[in-house]
Amino acid sequence: MRYAIGVRIAGERVSVGAVEENHVVGPIRRYPEAGNPGDSLAETPAESFGEVLQREIEKAAAGAEISAIGIGAPGIIRDGLIEECPNLQQLKGLNLRTVLSAAFPTSAILIGNDADAVAAGIAATRGQLDKVTRVWTLGVGLGLGRYPRTEGIWEAAHCVVTLDPKERFCGCGGLGHLEGILGHRAMRLRFMDMEPEEIFQQATQGDERCRNFANLWHRALAGATASSIHLEGPGKFYISGRNSKFVETGLLHVYLHEMVKMSTLQGSYFEVIPTPDEIAIIGAAVNARS
Ligand SMILES: [Zn+2]
Repeated sequence: MRYAIGVRIAGERVSVGAVEENHVVGPIRRYPEAGNPGDSLAETPAESFGEVLQREIEKAAAGAEISAIGIGAPGIIRDGLIEECPNLQQLKGLNLRTVLSAAFPTSAILIGNDADAVAAGIAATRGQLDKVTRVWTLGVGLGLGRYPRTEGIWEAAHCVVTLDPKERFCGCGGLGHLEGILGHRAMRLRFMDMEPEEIFQQATQGDERCRNFANLWHRALAGATASSIHLEGPGKFYISGRNSKFVETGLLHVYLHEMVKMSTLQGSYFEVIPTPDEIAIIGAAVNARS
């Protein structure tokens, strides 16, 4: 047997699966395992991180030949090098491709961004690998994933959606950024007394401050999407991740249509979809294989 292995590094966990065609074969492995609090990704030093990955990849392959290994990781990754990784700081400066190439010399290896893996996974599982697929991932971090992958930085979370100098909640320190409005941490900083769930709950009940923020939140996401449309053209935008539950799709469409007026750029729309780890694993493998 020959499998491609897909790996998702997200939040506090690594998930690994063997992929054949466009589906996962066998169980998805996780590190740390559920119910094993002794292992922690945050406390795994960079030197051991490669060993953890190697071991999990070998177990997922279960003796089969590994044709390709695809990794979807958070942060900025270029040529296999993790240049920025806000949630797992110790990985900054680690060249994952070098580490994995040494362990798996005959496998094709691709280290990419988690959001791009999600986009590829959506495209693969929906049978649309011939189309451009874009997805906003609204999780701990924020990302805009794209399939097919293209060269570049693609830090869409930090695109500027407001010129108000008081908008300063982005974790990177930049003013007016999308993540400064939509980011989980940013929302908690803005509403010191409320969790994001409570903010949106109260917005639906008509609390003025919360409703105003919920509108700003949707406007910001529509604005960043409008920028993508003006650069790359219209199309379908998926929204996934745990904070996608706050999305009011109708409101987003209203704001987007206020922002995109050229007739040739009409016709974009949003769909909120849950994307379990499996989707990102498949996408990471698909990207590595192609
Ligand atoms: Zn920023």
